[in-house]
Amino acid sequence: MIFRQLFDAESSTYTYLLGDEATRQAVLIDPVLEQADRDLQLVSELDLTLTHVLDTHVHADHVTASGLLRERTGCKVVGGVDGAACANVHVRHGDELRVGQLVFQVLATPGHTDDSVSYLLGDRVFTGDALLVRGNGRTDFQNGNAGQLHDSITRVLFSLPDETLVYPTHDYQGRTVTSISEEKRHNPRVAGKSREEFIHIMESLHLPKPQKMDIAVPANRACGHTAPSPQRG
Ligand code: FE
Repeated sequence: MIFRQLFDAESSTYTYLLGDEATRQAVLIDPVLEQADRDLQLVSELDLTLTHVLDTHVHADHVTASGLLRERTGCKVVGGVDGAACANVHVRHGDELRVGQLVFQVLATPGHTDDSVSYLLGDRVFTGDALLVRGNGRTDFQNGNAGQLHDSITRVLFSLPDETLVYPTHDYQGRTVTSISEEKRHNPRVAGKSREEFIHIMESLHLPKPQKMDIAVPANRACGHTAPSPQRG
């Protein structure tokens, strides 16, 4: 398997490129609009064909490149069943997505947003903002729900094997990967805390609204297409 972790410094977003060595088919998970050229160049340099873009949820802090990448490559856009209507494929818990010999299993992990899904591929899981390194996504907008997120983390993600590697969509402190075992033991919001304590923590955060939210959420419901763009006509 071909695997690359890419980073957008402005939004602290990780994008993942996964390719099947046999068929050269590849997917990008959570690509960022401003990084589309970079990502396509890497796909080309590795002799891959982009067949799918997987969004873990409708993001509020950056605009997805999914629609632009679909225009440029003809790839399919995949998202959760409650997510962006513009996606070609809407997946739900238990679905499998085959890309060459890669088989992604879809896990519904709502709570950060109501459409959040995680994608499990063998020994690694791509959790979006449901589970971050020593943290988790906020739950105060886009139909977020702290109790639901606690259930997604502790009942769905923590039921994976301890050694499963966790690749989040963001980190703000330079950490790149964690594991289920690490998060069970060291995630300060979950380890040793009850569901009620988790809900209380989430309700006490009072975070500022993401700067790009008013642009990003409607754009991402349209696969990243903002109001008429001179670049794309
Ligand atoms: Fe998010």
